[in-house]
Amino acid sequence: TIEGIDISFFTYTIYKPPYKTSSRNAPNCTILMLVRNWEVDGALKTIRALEDRFNKNHRYDWVFLNDEPFTLSFIRSTSSFVSSGKIKYGIIPKTHWNPPVANTSDKNGLNMTAVNLNMESMEKRGVLYGGVLSYRNMCRFQSMKFYKHPAMLEYEYYMRAEPNVEYFCDFHMDPFEYLYKKNAKYGFVISMYEYEDTIPTLWETVENFIEGEINDGCKLGNCWDFITDSGIAGKYRPVVASNSDYNLCHFWSNFEVGSLSFYRSEKYNNFVAYLDNTGGFYYERWGDAPIHTIGALMLLNEEEIVHFDTIGYYHAPFGTCPNSENIRLQQKCICDPTHLKNIDIQPNSCLMRWWKHGGGKKFTYF
Ligand code: GDP
Ligand code: MN
Repeated sequence: TIEGIDISFFTYTIYKPPYKTSSRNAPNCTILMLVRNWEVDGALKTIRALEDRFNKNHRYDWVFLNDEPFTLSFIRSTSSFVSSGKIKYGIIPKTHWNPPVANTSDKNGLNMTAVNLNMESMEKRGVLYGGVLSYRNMCRFQSMKFYKHPAMLEYEYYMRAEPNVEYFCDFHMDPFEYLYKKNAKYGFVISMYEYEDTIPTLWETVENFIEGEINDGCKLGNCWDFITDSGIAGKYRPVVASNSDYNLCHFWSNFEVGSLSFYRSEKYNNFVAYLDNTGGFYYERWGDAPIHTIGALMLLNEEEIVHFDTIGYYHAPFGTCPNSENIRLQQKCICDPTHLKNIDIQPNSCLMRWWKHGGGKKFTYF
């Protein structure tokens, strides 16, 4: 604290004219990037592409969040790449970032000795990010804290952006407006299977939560079958063998558009708090993608979840490219849908399952 002010909540705001506030048909929306200072080149690449392909025509705000203060050079360069609007730089409070320890307001303490042992063993087994504590902080933050950051509170929808991604095509529509007009809550572009080694007990935890929750009158969303292998969906075995009823499908969260009211809802927060209490974010390495996905499928119906199949996007090592040549020409796409890196109809994509058991019909223009 400085003079009694908690600087961990510090947000630095730049207003870059012309600053568009009214005349939009959608509520307040923002593009959010969680990023480290040393990723500045990747951040610039992303901003450049997203501004060019989408945001220069809409001028939505940007929010950059970091667990450390942004350097002035990071702020100077990134803000110079944003066309116009409001650009916010927020610091994440330690209580929202670090592992919850005993005797803090953040409830249950973790056994850090056990966490360290598990990290060592996961690292040895070659689990992706298995030995990395900061990655766990990041996943927990993206699962249950980002929408509570003071810099985010004025927004109703957010689009997640990451450093070093590519947007292959012009956006011919505004995903925020689309969600808003359709009263939808969640949009994605890629869906695939999670590494089971990162979530050994996630599904039993989810089942325990549901058992308790259903007693309180909670009904599962109508496309739950998309991620379960019981019931009807069980007829279609996933390519990736799973040891539980969870088929490991998830929406890739490095690109997602979501309703912040959904994330702030009591139900979603009860769900993530229950997960958090088991310590699974740290004892294992639960990713925010399966958490967002399971939360959305549990609490939302198929009409509320949108597959944006005209957005071209790449995050190593996979991408998605619109299948229709018409769209690729109209939207000036720089991708080839037949390329092997296009995951859409590869065996490790969950899209086919989504068409069968999820949103069914493809994305339609409005
Ligand atoms: P991957 O996509 O799962 O391989 O993980 P990334 O390394 O891309 O991390 C996901 C997002 O979180 C990216 O936007 C990163 O910039 C961000 N991120 C990851 N770790 C940290 C961290 O320790 N601090 C901050 N500020 N951002 C992080
Ligand atoms: Mn990434």
